[in-house]
Amino acid sequence: MTDDRSELFIGGVWTAPSSDNRITVRSASTEQVIGSVPEAGEADVDAAVAAARRAFDEPGGWATWEPERRAEILDRLAVEYETRAEAIFTAVSAQNGMPISIARQLETFPPVLFRYYAELIRKQPTQEVRGGVFVRTATVRRSPVGVVAAIVPWNVPQSLTATKLAPALAAGCSIVVKPSPETVLDAFLLADAAEAAGVPEGVFSVVPGGRGLGAYLVAHPGVDKVAFTGSTVGGRSVAQACASLLRPVTLELGGKSAAIILDDADLDLAHVGQSLFGATLANNGQVCFLGTRVLAPKRRYDEVVETFAHLMSGAAVGDALDESTLIGPLASRNQQSRVSGYIDAGISEGATVVVGGQGRPEGLDRGWFVRPTLFAGLGNDATVAREEIFGPVLTVIGYDDDAEAVRIANDSDYGLGGTVWSSDPDRALSVAAAVQTGTVGINGYLPDPSAPFGGVKCSGIGKEFGPEGLAGYQNVKSIYQF
Ligand code: NAD
Repeated sequence: MTDDRSELFIGGVWTAPSSDNRITVRSASTEQVIGSVPEAGEADVDAAVAAARRAFDEPGGWATWEPERRAEILDRLAVEYETRAEAIFTAVSAQNGMPISIARQLETFPPVLFRYYAELIRKQPTQEVRGGVFVRTATVRRSPVGVVAAIVPWNVPQSLTATKLAPALAAGCSIVVKPSPETVLDAFLLADAAEAAGVPEGVFSVVPGGRGLGAYLVAHPGVDKVAFTGSTVGGRSVAQACASLLRPVTLELGGKSAAIILDDADLDLAHVGQSLFGATLANNGQVCFLGTRVLAPKRRYDEVVETFAHLMSGAAVGDALDESTLIGPLASRNQQSRVSGYIDAGISEGATVVVGGQGRPEGLDRGWFVRPTLFAGLGNDATVAREEIFGPVLTVIGYDDDAEAVRIANDSDYGLGGTVWSSDPDRALSVAAAVQTGTVGINGYLPDPSAPFGGVKCSGIGKEFGPEGLAGYQNVKSIYQF
């Protein structure tokens, strides 16, 4: 049985699409068709933005509601998401190949974020009165930024949607979300949840479509702010469109982070196996913050290579919906050939292939699989050390001392995540502080809703999560009183 939808969620109302075009979704594991949805066209985006505009501009509307009323809707959205959680995990896993056990971890962020921002908006004063220097008082008022265009990728689709939806709703914005064509079934389940939670008319729309539709939405005259998560190439083009419109934009882009193993790190897989796996290989390598450049002290180089060889060759590769799978297929045929191209590049640049290599994993003759691959013997100048691969491919690079480890970590166009592994907390902290990156974990990695997440250099502009994430959806206005 396939999951087929006939209507689009436009302004909170299930609506007939403007054309007969459809997006057909295949299972990443079996390549079988598992569902289809209408593809939104420009007329549908126009309708979604018009509905969002009305909801935002309407006197007494959503944007002017007391924070408590909006917080109640967010709390209800958390409950409605949880009601559908298992269906959402299954849809994500079937579509993009995320192992189901990992979907149950990575895609549980949305209700956490809905509740986190509900609490934050309850506590945050709408205005602050300051004693002025030239004026009697300056009242600084926060207000929602307006109609938000949110563009999300397919790799962790629900959590990445919620990182925009939760603060946007909390702030009082209305929002039009464009999911990736690879992951649309879960987006419709989120729309069901929003409808059941009573998100008011006009406030939330879902317009599934490709890059062209995304570009149309980004440049739409009715949009006030753009929030984009995706590749650095896509982000650059979104940034150019926003630059000419002088439209505020948040960009969460690609990464090529370093996992720095210090010479005192505990590498016993019984202690650190799960954390090391999560920080370097989660979701089949399809997570932006993974530490895919493993930096190893030369005196423990062979031991580090052996540790990762064990980790990778011991991970069950298979159908994403199989409970025992740790590494599933990639999200699409395109991704499979892109990642295979990088495996070729590593081999042709002279890497030692410690695990994996070209070809399909044994016994898996369908699905967009690659073999999890571990490269050794390359420097930081190799293509596989410089470019984001977005697959289960790691490269171990040797270094002499902590200063060189930091230098190699920073020798990258990107700066999104990273980890430091050490049994000395102070030493780990000082290395972590020296890495040029937006976020870094010590002996593990997990973004936390309380603290800003985002990249430096080519990894992006702006922050999500924490109060900083809410600020991205708010304007501040100063009222001078004499
Ligand atoms: P992508 O850039 O191809 O597409 C992402 C989304 O943007 C899709 O919805 C796509 O249709 C849309 N899009 C692409 N080009 C566009 C344009 N010019 N105008 C408007 N919309 C456009 O990225 P992808 O391959 O789907 O996702 C993987 C990438 O996302 C990786 O580079 C990964 O690192 C990055 N990512 C970053 C973060 C982060 O928080 N920094 C999180 C997840 C993924």
